[in-house]
Amino acid sequence: MTSSPALPETTLSQTVLPATMRTSVLLHQQQLTIEDRAVPTPDSDEVLVKVAAVGVCGSDVHYYREGRIGDFVVDSPLVLGHELSGTIVAVGADIDTARIGERVAVEPQRPCRSCRECRAGRYNLCSKMEFYATPPIDGAFCGYVTSQTEFAHRIPDSVSFEAGALLEPLSVAIASIRKAQIVPGSSVLIAGAGPIGIITAQTARAFGAGEIIVSDLVPAKRERALKFGATRVIDPVATDPATLGLDVNAFIDASGSARAVDSGIRSVRPAGTVVLVGLGNPEMTLPVGHIQNLELTVTGIFRYVDTWPTAIHLVASGQVDLDALVTGRFDLDHVAEALDSDRDENSLKSIVYPN
Ligand SMILES: [Zn+2]
Ligand SMILES: [Zn+2]
Repeated sequence: MTSSPALPETTLSQTVLPATMRTSVLLHQQQLTIEDRAVPTPDSDEVLVKVAAVGVCGSDVHYYREGRIGDFVVDSPLVLGHELSGTIVAVGADIDTARIGERVAVEPQRPCRSCRECRAGRYNLCSKMEFYATPPIDGAFCGYVTSQTEFAHRIPDSVSFEAGALLEPLSVAIASIRKAQIVPGSSVLIAGAGPIGIITAQTARAFGAGEIIVSDLVPAKRERALKFGATRVIDPVATDPATLGLDVNAFIDASGSARAVDSGIRSVRPAGTVVLVGLGNPEMTLPVGHIQNLELTVTGIFRYVDTWPTAIHLVASGQVDLDALVTGRFDLDHVAEALDSDRDENSLKSIVYPN
């Protein structure tokens, strides 16, 4: 992302753009400020997107509260926000100007496209990846962002800007469901009924899962899971899921809790799959003997590859409802409140409107 106040004249033909934009900047842990920054100029292979809606993600909250996630440390000012939609307002020299005016959801990755992993189609594992709102790459709590043109995915008019932003967590769910090898009739246990757990339950249903069991400590969250695809909910404090003989095809952890992971692994049938999605516990003890004896496949996911087309279809066809997840709306002056909205257990997904 280059930043220069002046845009090339060719990109200005259809839209008059301001020179600067308001930007919410995380200076360090717990300290946000608003700065006027130059509107970025798209490189030749990029588009410039006027940001419409940005979802608040658990990772933004971690950077805000703790100043780090594992090895990723906020050691210089950082713009948060990586779940975004908007409108293309300018294009780089190599991009057809017909894209100007398109409503898009931005896949917040900027891979190198040429390393071994990129060439193998696993661009999420690119070692030169620039991922929005991950130090030192700025995110989208600002007026405008640039995106490589193929990562700005056109959304149909039936998909709202809010849903367009939430195609990002939906992509996490799609990547998880693919890894879990969910097919029609599969049974799946999902630990954690936060945003990712809820979206994963909806996605499991869309992929044809027959039994979708969700566990969560909080009664209100279990209740909500039943409205979003869960066929059964479990209170893991009252009953350890491992004692219920669930015998599921797959377990997806969206809680990050070591206890949930242990009992989830013990709930999977032989040759089943375990997908670790939840953050929070970078090291934990696993029941290795059990994994060996049942030949379980245990894997993690790191972001996603080629999920936006599927995500757009699931939303446009009504199989996944993202609009219903939005519980809070904030402007750029209230990003701190947006980041703290998860302290209310009725809050599910907050959206920031930078413009
Ligand atoms: Zn996210
Ligand atoms: Zn690469």
